Amino acid sequence: MVRDIVCNMEINENQAAARSEYKGSIFYFCAETCKNIFDAEPERYIKKLPWWRRFLVKLAEVNKETYGSEPPKCCK
Ligand SMILES: [Zn+2]
Repeated sequence: MVRDIVCNMEINENQAAARSEYKGSIFYFCAETCKNIFDAEPERYIKKLPWWRRFLVKLAEVNKETYGSEPPKCCK
């Protein structure tokens, strides 16, 4: 389960109505409306995340800057 960071609803990532990529992290939303709200002001919602979740966002951002947006291919 993941949490829609706009409305705080728990959703199954396979059933999310929308998702958005921000700085290398994927966010899931219950509806297109929530995605649009997030896309308009992503930082505002990221600030409300728990510290460990913000850490993951930061980590993804650094990874993206260092390695690009492609997932690692070493493990295939
Ligand atoms: Zn929502």
